[in-house]
Amino acid sequence: MTQSWKVENFLEINNGILRIDHIDATELAREYGTPLFVVSEKQLHSNIERLLKIREVIDRPLKISYAAKAMSTMGILRSVREAGIDIEVNSGGELWKALKAGFRGDQINFNGNSKEVWELELAITNEIYAIQVDSLYELSLIAETAERLGKRANVSLRLVPEIESHTHSGLQTALLTSKFGMMPNEAYEAFRQYKDSPHIAMTGIHLHVGSQNPDPQVYTDAFLSLFESLKLIRKETGLKLQHVNIGGGFPVNYIGDEAVEGIPTEINEMLSATFEPADAIRDAWAAVQDSAAGTDLLDDITILIEPGRSIIADTTICLTTVRNTKSRPVSESKIQNPESTIDNWLLTDAGFNILLSMETYKWYYHLISATRPNEPHDTPYKVAGPLCDGGDVYFDIEGQNRLPDHRMLPDNVKPGEVLALLNCGAYSLSQASQYNGRFLPPVVLIRENGELELIRRRDTFADLINNDI
Ligand code: PLP
Repeated sequence: MTQSWKVENFLEINNGILRIDHIDATELAREYGTPLFVVSEKQLHSNIERLLKIREVIDRPLKISYAAKAMSTMGILRSVREAGIDIEVNSGGELWKALKAGFRGDQINFNGNSKEVWELELAITNEIYAIQVDSLYELSLIAETAERLGKRANVSLRLVPEIESHTHSGLQTALLTSKFGMMPNEAYEAFRQYKDSPHIAMTGIHLHVGSQNPDPQVYTDAFLSLFESLKLIRKETGLKLQHVNIGGGFPVNYIGDEAVEGIPTEINEMLSATFEPADAIRDAWAAVQDSAAGTDLLDDITILIEPGRSIIADTTICLTTVRNTKSRPVSESKIQNPESTIDNWLLTDAGFNILLSMETYKWYYHLISATRPNEPHDTPYKVAGPLCDGGDVYFDIEGQNRLPDHRMLPDNVKPGEVLALLNCGAYSLSQASQYNGRFLPPVVLIRENGELELIRRRDTFADLINNDI
């Protein structure tokens, strides 16, 4: 691969070393140790600015709610809040963290398909913007809880409109085969039952098509489908809703402008998807306005989006050190090139304990040498993490063809060399575990003014047993 990962003033090469926001990556690795997550606040805020451009293409209020599940380290939540946007949470724990990070109740949406009463209580007491309801049963639980608290809960119904996205099957969320949301007829029933409830304020409808959607058309499909629901709800119940929430899912280009060799075209296309969210929403909004001609349904509507990946993924680099190497003969059946019958293995300190998607979804994170980013990355290696699992590898072992067979790095990589996994901010640390007694890694935020802030320290021995009795 060429150096298409470079981003001016963010990911560069200086004196032959990878530089992140003008700071040498190897220096950071030395100071904080590895594995280490390094986050660029400048990139974070620029991603938010890019999404705020959606305001210029729709003449209605826009609420952007950062999907906290993507990464919810407190320093990140605070930085997101400082950038002026809102937040989407998926549990009582994330809701509590959002409040702690300074978000007001009216800045919070709460998703999730198995909410507990204590979580609903927290949401209702804090008068959050919307509890996104997943079933008729859950709605009855919300009504009961709100009545007990003497409150009125704001709710929005999550619909499953059967919209397919060409993303990874585990990231699809708007199909009837997925576990989320309510079918449209259940939703109409809910509106009929609760429209006059003193304890439920029906404020909106919601859907989320999926994550890393490669095709912007799904946002038009989603918006049109929500609009059809708005019309039917009006017809059946007389209600005019205040908001529609079209979810998150804007893609991140994980591989620059060059395809990864050894994986199928459609996966390369999914991983390199790039479109401007503002363009997708402009087209979706135009299509909806066409079908809304003659109605007042959209006159006072607020539009919500809840992106996670497109805000945080490309802000973060995971630095990892090669801790061990070995060479092995390639098994007879796998020899592709008679001249390379030996596999060189690199064993790093970053495994699926901190990059779970690499195992569960066989997700591709581009890997470069932070010590020698300028040298040709033309030597194939089998790269693997430190866990006591054969599946803890940076390549595909199950013939799913989602990851390349080898990773390309400079010649002669030795223990001690620092490598960088790029675009690691989303669904990584937030899914991490202490599996194998491994410490959760530290996170360094490079502030917009260039200052370094350690926003999460590395776990200690004590953290490994904190909750054990
Ligand atoms: N909203 C909901 C309901 C989700 O399930 C997700 C993630 O799957 C998101 C928002 C964020 O999606 P993304 O990180 O792809 O923007």
